[in-house]
Amino acid sequence: MRAVTWQGKRDVRVENVPDPKIQEPTDAVIRVTSTGLCGSDLHLYEVLTAFMTPGDILGHEPIGIVEEVGAGVPDLKAGDRVVVPFQIACGDCWMCLNGLPTQCETTQVAGEGMGAALFGYTRLYGAVPGAQAEYLRVPQAQFGPIKIPEGPPDDRFVYLSDVLPTAWQAVSYADVPEGGSVAVLGLGPIGDMACRVAQVRGAGRVFGIDLVPERLRRAKERGVETFDLRSFDSDKELVAAIRDETDGRGPDAVIDAVGTEAHGSAAAKLAQQAVSILPRKIGAPLTERFGVDRLAALYTAIDLVRRGGTLSLVGVYGGMADPLPLLTLFDKQIQIRMGQANVRRWSDEIIPYLTDEDPLGVDDFATHRVPLEEAPHAYEMFQRKQEGAVKVLMKP
Ligand code: NAD
Ligand code: ZN
Ligand code: ZN
Repeated sequence: MRAVTWQGKRDVRVENVPDPKIQEPTDAVIRVTSTGLCGSDLHLYEVLTAFMTPGDILGHEPIGIVEEVGAGVPDLKAGDRVVVPFQIACGDCWMCLNGLPTQCETTQVAGEGMGAALFGYTRLYGAVPGAQAEYLRVPQAQFGPIKIPEGPPDDRFVYLSDVLPTAWQAVSYADVPEGGSVAVLGLGPIGDMACRVAQVRGAGRVFGIDLVPERLRRAKERGVETFDLRSFDSDKELVAAIRDETDGRGPDAVIDAVGTEAHGSAAAKLAQQAVSILPRKIGAPLTERFGVDRLAALYTAIDLVRRGGTLSLVGVYGGMADPLPLLTLFDKQIQIRMGQANVRRWSDEIIPYLTDEDPLGVDDFATHRVPLEEAPHAYEMFQRKQEGAVKVLMKP
């Protein structure tokens, strides 16, 4: 079959690889009909390259048709249409039974200290071949795949694999009071969808921050109050502008949907060094304390959220912003929640929104639908935020 393989930093290729086969009774094999490209793929493409092995198959956002199932998968049969969560979980261990499939004790890689195995995330998460391919072996298929009806386009359901539960969890963790305010840093697929989810779940005001014009426009068209990072000389000014909109306090919650791929990552490195020294001006904005104008989004989020508010981290920080300004966090009494999305925990709450009325706008969410063979161009376009790319679906 054809599959998208990682070959080196910013080098992916579509190659011939062996077809996947059933290996365990709890496996299924699906024929992929659509498969997403995600900000998390970009971490592997460019940043976490030290963990990669050339030939790794990428991708973790598939929808497709069941080809074959093992004897331990009673509820699926060939021909069923399914969307597959990005994380692989058993559904039956203590963590899964307590709504934390990201921490599945059956699939987490023993000794590695990481959570549940993921599709297409190299040896960091179990070295499971990914879903940007014609076929996918799905381990633990007695729990993961979500059966969906025939009829509506792939776009209606494909985001149940990642974007929707991730945005849903980000908003749940943000704990926005009814009618309250939330700011979303980063309007990529995850931040954009988090804004939409916050709106349908009753947030009073939703602020969106990014620096890519098309992404800002897209959010604005759906009623988000947008702020273009490029029109502020420093993060401090941005924070002040949003405070002005929220009675001088700052929003009740901030969702950081940026993560490692942060604008101004050189500033973030500086901040890391600075944080290890005792802060000089207690209570001052972090930019002032660190003597830089731009910080990793995480630090902007800490400054931005109101005292006593909640910070929901959905962006992945691969170690970059590890040192936390604990004095500021403690003094502002900020609650922080984070983690990979527990996909199956949220899917039943989300599915009622995936109707013909389409309140979340999933049917038109993709900006690009391209053949799998065009993956190298798709990665480049998505990473550089060119050609208006926000969400890219690939069709094997
Ligand atoms: P993306 O890279 O397309 O989006 C990031 C956006 O942030 C871009 O539009 C970029 O312009 C913007 N940005 C950069 N620096 C900024 C700053 N300082 N302030 C405001 N905006 C800034 O990626 P995506 O697909 O939307 O994913 C976003 C993050 O969510 C990634 O880190 C990804 O790994 C993570 N993610 C987490 C989960 C999870 O389960 N927690 C699941 C999927 C994705
Ligand atoms: Zn993803
Ligand atoms: Zn489990």
